[in-house]
Amino acid sequence: SGHLEKVKEMLKELEDMFATPTHNLVLVAEAMAAEMHAGLASDGGSKLKMLISYVDNLPTGNEEGVFYALDLGGTNFRVLRVHLGGREARVVRQEFEECSIPPHLMLGSSQELFDFIAKALAKFVATEGEEGLHASPSRQRELGFTFSFPVGQTSVASGNLIKWTKGFSVEDAVGQDIVGELTKAMKRAGVDMRVSALVNDTIGTLAGGRYHDKDVIAAVILGTGTNAAYVEKASAIPKWQGLLPKSGDMVINTEWGNFSTLHLPFTELDLALDAESLNPGEQLYEKMISGMYLGELVRRGLCKLAKEASLFGDTVPPKLRTPFILRTPDMSAMHHDTSPNLDVVDKKLKDLFEISNTSIEVRKAIVELCDIVAVRGALLSAAGIVGIIKKLGRDTAESAGEKSVIALDGGLYEHYTKFRICMENTVKELLGPRVFDQVRIEHSNDGSGIGAALLAASHSQYL
Ligand code: ADP
Ligand code: MG
Repeated sequence: SGHLEKVKEMLKELEDMFATPTHNLVLVAEAMAAEMHAGLASDGGSKLKMLISYVDNLPTGNEEGVFYALDLGGTNFRVLRVHLGGREARVVRQEFEECSIPPHLMLGSSQELFDFIAKALAKFVATEGEEGLHASPSRQRELGFTFSFPVGQTSVASGNLIKWTKGFSVEDAVGQDIVGELTKAMKRAGVDMRVSALVNDTIGTLAGGRYHDKDVIAAVILGTGTNAAYVEKASAIPKWQGLLPKSGDMVINTEWGNFSTLHLPFTELDLALDAESLNPGEQLYEKMISGMYLGELVRRGLCKLAKEASLFGDTVPPKLRTPFILRTPDMSAMHHDTSPNLDVVDKKLKDLFEISNTSIEVRKAIVELCDIVAVRGALLSAAGIVGIIKKLGRDTAESAGEKSVIALDGGLYEHYTKFRICMENTVKELLGPRVFDQVRIEHSNDGSGIGAALLAASHSQYL
């Protein structure tokens, strides 16, 4: 029928708009490496903040004792208790509790948010010993705090919030010392605990990854948002004013979510998504890649197809107009639908949008749209990873012999199989077989929780 022809035509247009040919990906990777340089040269020198973490040593494997970690950075937050057994025993035991952040707290006051967190922590601390795991009675408990928003660190255990991302907007916390906010809330909740390390989730993942594999040099998060951290030579950081650390290294939180370059395929859908977001003009790379936004881009694409090509008939189904109603896990489920009639797509359309009686052709078009959006995200994240490898000069045959392992984590990477496979294949394609031989991408399972506990251990007040 007529409208199907129009749908196909428009899908082709969308595909072209979202397309990122290899030569563009190479330019994206080069721009990433160049922006990394610029961000290291001076504060404000680049869209990439290249934040200094004050972590100049990654875990060795010798860490010992019981430590806590707290992970706040997206939709869920987690508290964790880990018994580190040193070189031989490694992670003897870990216990954790996860809860979701009530949405109103993501837009409320700092005190409310941190009180909620501290109360959950207090409850968790109270379960200490039930399973046999308890901290030393003669010592103050110590915590590694994974806080996955841009922070200007003032030491390894303090730092001021620069801005919120990923749907958070707790305005009175901006500019505040995050450890101070948490510490005050812990006092109010009656928890006696010292924050020994304040880290980004990328840095936690890097630390957790390094604990298991000494060749880990960078960590990338593909979850609600996206970000990367890596190990830089302290002497290659012109903006670093302090003494050179003994190790010669400094871990950098790139905050690459805010990356942008003219080589990104920025479409009308991206433009509208950004304009209506909580943080217009910011996190443009993240908005093309990460789990918070991929489903929303698909929804916007569906709206366009509904309006301009009558994808669902003469009218636009009203529910389709609700922002963020199509979440990335739903998109992923549709994208992976292998049933002959695309029953998963049918069910999602009914459940989410109250759309029924779609033809197989319409369902196929929807899967195609998911593919267009997911593939672009996967290609762009691959280019970013290659950018880091380029910055480190590990992208040439001369660097042969040096193994480079990238620790990956986050729900998008973990659960969106087509995204992950496309991303990994693209890294391989961009690096070429000889270099790729020296590079490995590894899933670092909950590296960020364990990593924060490891960093709390290596920055303990009792060392
Ligand atoms: P966070 O980034 O919030 O710390 P995670 O790393 O667990 O948390 O990532 C959660 C994100 O991962 C979700 O917001 C969602 O976008 C994405 N995600 C989770 N499950 C899936 C799935 N099955 N398919 C695709 N994306 C998923
Ligand atoms: Mg996380």
